[in-house]
Amino acid sequence: MKGLQHDQVTIEEIASPTSNLLNISLHVLRLDLLHPIIAGNKWYKLQFHLSAALQQKKKRIVTWGGAWSNHIVATAAAAQSLQLSSLGIIRGEKPTVLSHTLQEAASFGMQFQFISRENYRQRNFDPELLTAEDWEIPEGGYSQLGAQGASRIVELFTPHHFTHILCAVGTGTMMAGIIQAAPPSTTIIGIPVLHGPEALTHAIKSLLPATHSNWRLVSGFEWGGYAKHPEGLLDFMNQWYQLTGIPTDIVYTSKLCYAVNDLMAGNFFPSGSKVLIIHSGGLQGNRSLPPDTLHF
Ligand SMILES: *Cc1c(COP(=O)(O)O)cnc(C)c1O
Repeated sequence: MKGLQHDQVTIEEIASPTSNLLNISLHVLRLDLLHPIIAGNKWYKLQFHLSAALQQKKKRIVTWGGAWSNHIVATAAAAQSLQLSSLGIIRGEKPTVLSHTLQEAASFGMQFQFISRENYRQRNFDPELLTAEDWEIPEGGYSQLGAQGASRIVELFTPHHFTHILCAVGTGTMMAGIIQAAPPSTTIIGIPVLHGPEALTHAIKSLLPATHSNWRLVSGFEWGGYAKHPEGLLDFMNQWYQLTGIPTDIVYTSKLCYAVNDLMAGNFFPSGSKVLIIHSGGLQGNRSLPPDTLHF
């Protein structure tokens, strides 16, 4: 295994018996190594929101998410680092014990407002909650500013070296950013982890300022949906770690790496393909598992 440093981000080449056999090169962009908390794509999706908030002299960042949201904790940490306060509007009633994610967000000074799932879906909340000093970031950072930030991920490597770039897809914001910045000769493949591909295709297209045709979503790797992690997925995470030394998270990157393996074995990638996997971070989410589930 060899690694090369590129603007402080590691791009690691990995090999598997299948990739060798099929003459496919596999690289992983290790955004997970960027920062222990704001790691991964969340930092990129937040960048332009944060600079806009500072520019407009806002005092507080307000955002939306569930109790296990990587976006919530990343926003809390990023806001604190800029001396902004933060409020998380959290889906669901307040639990007696806060999730690890929310505890961590609270440790960065985030305050919470819990609202019922119904109200959350309809954005029904006390309007006095928001003031003119607040900068609101949509759930998961889904916005053009978020995608614009995510497009900077592509500056971390030489995109035309790769025939395929694969990433996990939640809201589709990161993927929209990558599509915008990648050359037309590279195919961007998104692996949805929660929604059906129809809603996502629309969500991604609406973030793109121009039409691009070098991308597609490949569904079938949701493992039952958002944050569902059956035994088979956990086994795969351990095997993948053993093979590559790369830890993955239960919500996004495990499903992505599984998909790459599966697609490769199904001859999805022509011989000679150069595949880049975006490791978008999210490892903090693994703390919801019982200890010793994962061997890393
Ligand atoms: C949030 C997240 C994603 C999904 O990003 P979207 O822009 O919402 O599609 C992927 N990977 C990890 C690790 C994440 O935390």
